[in-house]
Amino acid sequence: MAAAALRQIWTRKFLPVPWLLCGPRRYDSSSFKAADLQLEMTQEPHKKPDPSKPLLFGKTFTDHMLMVEWNREKGWGQPRIQPFQNLTVHPACSALHYSLQLFEGMKAFKGRDQCVRLFRPWLNMDRMLRSALRLCLPSFDKVELLQCICRLVEVDKDWVPDSSGTSLYVRPVLIGNEPSLGVGNPTRALLFVILCPVGAYFPGDALSPVSLLADPSFIRAWVGGVGDYKLGGNYGPTVFVQQEALKKGCEQVLWLYGPDHQLTEVGTMNIFIFWTHEDGALELVTPPLDGVILPGVVRQSLLDLARTWGEFRVAERKITMKEFLQALEDGRVREVFGSGTACQVCPVHRILYQGKHLHIPTMENGPELILRFHKELKAIQVRCTCWEMGWMLVPFRTEIHIP
Ligand SMILES: *Cc1c(COP(=O)(O)O)cnc(C)c1O
Repeated sequence: MAAAALRQIWTRKFLPVPWLLCGPRRYDSSSFKAADLQLEMTQEPHKKPDPSKPLLFGKTFTDHMLMVEWNREKGWGQPRIQPFQNLTVHPACSALHYSLQLFEGMKAFKGRDQCVRLFRPWLNMDRMLRSALRLCLPSFDKVELLQCICRLVEVDKDWVPDSSGTSLYVRPVLIGNEPSLGVGNPTRALLFVILCPVGAYFPGDALSPVSLLADPSFIRAWVGGVGDYKLGGNYGPTVFVQQEALKKGCEQVLWLYGPDHQLTEVGTMNIFIFWTHEDGALELVTPPLDGVILPGVVRQSLLDLARTWGEFRVAERKITMKEFLQALEDGRVREVFGSGTACQVCPVHRILYQGKHLHIPTMENGPELILRFHKELKAIQVRCTCWEMGWMLVPFRTEIHIP
């Protein structure tokens, strides 16, 4: 009954209020419970960043963090909201040696009504649990974790910036904490969540386009691998490739895959092409979730929005460089862009492929679709419109007043 009710809540994408049911609950080792949260407030609050200065991504942290410990004998411990602090781990910690580590990334926005809302956090919880199971890290109840995160955001709500384009980045992490050099199922784990106020990715809403290096000798993910999970081990090795791109005058990497050089992702973003397909149909296309593509929340949101509009064909299909070059030559390509939580949508204006710099006419075309997505997402996230989408979660109850 309880599980069925939860499942129903999950599919409705709404969670019950009040968030924190009062009083202790029966101990259940299969998940920690938000109702058991312990709260230790910092005695030394830090100075909030100066809103007039740009915030560099991921360098400023709030005053508190969520921490939950797990071990095989006792299961999950009580979740704690505690002052932001360093971790103490054993030098043999399996996360450090064998990348038993996964993470998530999502944002909370302060709306025009000063109310803070998380953007589709259910999808991040789903993805995080999938990653945990793939790494043999402990399972947890997604609703309970989300409730804990909501409470953390509430505690640090004064850290959520409110000028245009800014947000609070939420970074949940789960690591194996096995104090042993054996490669195996961890018997200890740590789940923690940290928060960063972040500035506008595109200051002044000027969508500056990026250039990409497309070199098929570097492969990000492969069928049967783990590229479709957000595991830390997928990202460290990309730093070198990113450096190669910079050396060749490109800002990011276009990840190709297979002998037919399929376009898969852009840096740590999903890729979209808005073009006239060779069959003559106006189409928005992105590669399908076939194992090498990270199932992005923004990717899903753009697909959902475009399907709601119903103005052009929306496809999830493989795209090869050969097809793409032909479309460029025919003048059928309108816009190429990446999607991800950090930037939302990011235009692409140049691709270096097989020694040639290909100009992509994204900016010459408006970029109409990119700007529309940008505007629509912003409307949902901060202007508090489009409630019917049910995409925003209000972590706590505040006086709502519309300015
Ligand atoms: C995180 C990530 C994305 C984007 O996912 P969002 O949920 O939209 O932020 C895309 N590709 C890769 C490789 C990623 O790591």
